[in-house]
Amino acid sequence: MVEPERIRPLNRLPIRENAAYVLYWAQMNRRAEWNHALAHATELANSRGLPLLIYEGLDCSYRDASDRLHSFVLENVPGMEAGVRALGAGYLFHARPDPSAPNDLLYRLASKAACVVSDDYPTFIAAEHNRRVPDKIGVAYRVVDSSCIVPMAVMEKREWAAYTIRPKIHRELPKYMRAFDHPQVRQAWDDALLPPGTAELRTHVSAGTVRNIVDTCRINHFVNPSIAYTGGRQMAAKHLQVFLERKLSRYATESGQPSKHATSGLSPYLHFGQISSLEVALAAKAHAEEHKLIANEFLEELIVRRELAFNFARYTENPESLAEVPDWCQRTMRKHATDPRAYLYSFEQFEQGLTHDPLWNACQKELLLRGVIHGYYRMYWGKKIIEWSRTYEDALGTMVRLHDVYALDGRDPNTYTGILWCFGLHDRPWTERPVYGQLRCMTFDGMKRKTDVNGYIEGVAFMERTGKDPYRI
Ligand SMILES: Cc1cc2nc3c(=O)[nH]c(=O)nc-3n(C[C@H](O)[C@H](O)[C@H](O)COP(=O)(O)OP(=O)(O)OC[C@H]3O[C@@H](n4cnc5c(N)ncnc54)[C@H](O)[C@@H]3O)c2cc1C
Repeated sequence: MVEPERIRPLNRLPIRENAAYVLYWAQMNRRAEWNHALAHATELANSRGLPLLIYEGLDCSYRDASDRLHSFVLENVPGMEAGVRALGAGYLFHARPDPSAPNDLLYRLASKAACVVSDDYPTFIAAEHNRRVPDKIGVAYRVVDSSCIVPMAVMEKREWAAYTIRPKIHRELPKYMRAFDHPQVRQAWDDALLPPGTAELRTHVSAGTVRNIVDTCRINHFVNPSIAYTGGRQMAAKHLQVFLERKLSRYATESGQPSKHATSGLSPYLHFGQISSLEVALAAKAHAEEHKLIANEFLEELIVRRELAFNFARYTENPESLAEVPDWCQRTMRKHATDPRAYLYSFEQFEQGLTHDPLWNACQKELLLRGVIHGYYRMYWGKKIIEWSRTYEDALGTMVRLHDVYALDGRDPNTYTGILWCFGLHDRPWTERPVYGQLRCMTFDGMKRKTDVNGYIEGVAFMERTGKDPYRI
């Protein structure tokens, strides 16, 4: 049974009597396994003796939709469909090819549903949909939190920093960090239940058709698929397996060494819900126990840091705004707003990695090619954008935009928390310096002292030259 604290009704409409099915709208948790929202929808269907339909859409009209993001989502579809069908549910995937094409499929499917269940998610499109759709959908609409191990609702307010949320999370973990069985749907699905004219809108996706579907969508075709990541649950599972077998044992000592490739590379899969943090955490814990390893550092990032980000996004009006950083950050930025900047770059110079700093340029090129930046240098990347922008607002805009366009794990609670961390969120005041004020400062010399900067730069140069990621899984 899905814990009630994961579930939130978003309108007051009743469950429809004499409905044809329960509808689960997979917006963020695009997986048939370890999915509390899907499990709740299944429980609801079984309790009413109804079949279950899963609807998954891919829109072309959201900001910066691109070949990179579309491919990653589409590559997951065949596995999702197989998983859903194995549970006994129906599945309809629709890629809307053109902004002029009708955009009412969800509403048409909901017209025959007892209830619409979807994902509780605090940023970007899902957050926007969950604000707008419930009043218009005409039937009970509830969302379920399958993003966090400790449900977001358990923390009742915005937390100040990792040290305030950590003890609360650790107190709750024994209750929530446990495997759960996906119930089977008891009432068989039949496509004849679909409202008239909707079955025809199904987009059939196979490994061989992804490219073609991407090409026919009206999106930004200038951002190529990542050279490092293929989407899909199977690929997520492979990344997890490689991480456990080859990297977890050195995570504590080498995750801060980008050239050692000791992190999991799971953030794109976690962002698109192709794998769940709960299953990753349990797998890491079990592997560590079996091999007498310590997984604490990894679990700190995956659970405490990640769920701090979800807590921030949930209890924040606008997670993309500098108004959300603490007062001491605002004060210090006001004081240093007019400090002279040693270098100033335009958005295009940042975008193309054309600064004077070879490490920064390599980070940006990693983003262009792979769709992520290594976690340790990602902080450096952000801090330098602050240092080399005319205003703090310009710096924020540059970071958000570069994530929107290029990051496979962008628009995530981690995105905004990571970016605002550069402006002091969840951090503390440091010694005062020009431009940074009391915000933590990072320097090229510091990176050189602590990490193998040349090894990383050479690795990125190789990828740029060959168009290949030698560490691709
Ligand atoms: C400026 C800036 C921007 C960032 N943008 C993003 C983003 O767009 N998307 C994103 O997922 N993360 C972002 N982060 C956080 C972090 O850099 C990435 O989560 C991490 O590098 C992903 O690589 P990985 O999956 O190999 O991580 P691993 O080290 O293997 O960690 C496993 C998982 O733990 C979580 N995690 C790790 N580090 C952090 C962290 N510092 N805060 C919160 N969760 C964490 C992630 O879900 C990650 O996938 C950003 C950080 C900064 C400083």
